[in-house]
Amino acid sequence: MGKIIQLDDDLSNKIAAGEVVERPASVVKELVENAIDAASTIIEIEIEEAGLSKIRIIDNGDGIEEEDVLMAFQRHATSKIKDDKDLFRIRTLGFRGEALPSIASVSRLEMKTSTGDAGTRVVIAGGKVEIFEKASSRKGTDLTISDLFYNTPARLKYLKTVHTELGNITDVVNRLALSHPEISFRLVHNDRKLLHTTGNGDVRQVLAAIYGMNIVKNMIPIEEKTLDFTLKGWVSLPEITRASRNYISTMINGRFIKNYSLAKAISEGFHTLLPIGRYPIVLLNIEMDPILVDVNVHPSKMEVRLSKESELFELISGSIKAAFKTKQLIPSGVIPK
Ligand code: ADP
Ligand code: MG
Repeated sequence: MGKIIQLDDDLSNKIAAGEVVERPASVVKELVENAIDAASTIIEIEIEEAGLSKIRIIDNGDGIEEEDVLMAFQRHATSKIKDDKDLFRIRTLGFRGEALPSIASVSRLEMKTSTGDAGTRVVIAGGKVEIFEKASSRKGTDLTISDLFYNTPARLKYLKTVHTELGNITDVVNRLALSHPEISFRLVHNDRKLLHTTGNGDVRQVLAAIYGMNIVKNMIPIEEKTLDFTLKGWVSLPEITRASRNYISTMINGRFIKNYSLAKAISEGFHTLLPIGRYPIVLLNIEMDPILVDVNVHPSKMEVRLSKESELFELISGSIKAAFKTKQLIPSGVIPK
């Protein structure tokens, strides 16, 4: 008798959930990314008790057809890629088809979704479908996660304080709002509004909503275009610094990423202008052919591998240096207030 067995779906979803949904903030990230991929223009996020009792995401995006609803909760089921060619030119935030089954396996979930005509409502608890019915609903998707990790006590125990978990959620939503100024985001925690962006496309307004207008007044634009890259962003004047790198946001093709080389390019750009141990406030938006970026490195998709990394390095550090050079030539007062 052999000893190897195939794990059932329930168990393999829970195992996958360990990677994809580490904490409430990762649930928020996955669900909001789905709403963005569904071409939503308004996304509302309601949180209770740092996401442990409730995470509700309401979007006005494409919605899901009735016949696809249960499929969306299967592992490796996605509408975003079809074959391995697609894997190398990903334009969506998701593509692995793991978030919904993972989240559904460790929570109680209710989804109401509609593509515009008839709607569907599904209730799933611990991965088991309890209700599946037609429901009237406006176009978009309304997802509520309650009792996150109720059936994985070890995960629950490992979470930090409400304060820390809420901080992580806020960071996630702030980053998504910064990478998508064309979408209106509203984040509410226990009925307190934490962020509201208008979605009018002006990234400076998003920066102001997050960091305050006083900071934004002291940021200067950078813009650069080459054959391979389009770079747009804002950098704080060297006198406005922070004690952590957390205020540096880099996005590639609308995805918030962390990359050592890009972080280094930014500090290289500031060179000796920053005091030791202090970091600038930076927003960098890089557009490039998806073929030059491999996002399939880690389940969280925050790490990427870049082709032409050294060209991008030079472009970033060069454009920041250039921005400060021009700034010195312009008499103060001409810098956009
Ligand atoms: P992925 O995002 O990697 O495709 P998910 O498990 O997150 O995998 O979602 C599975 C599928 O469900 C998506 O490919 C998409 O078709 C659909 N979906 C999920 N969330 C939404 C949403 N908010 N609006 C419309 N479709 C959605
Ligand atoms: Mg997804």
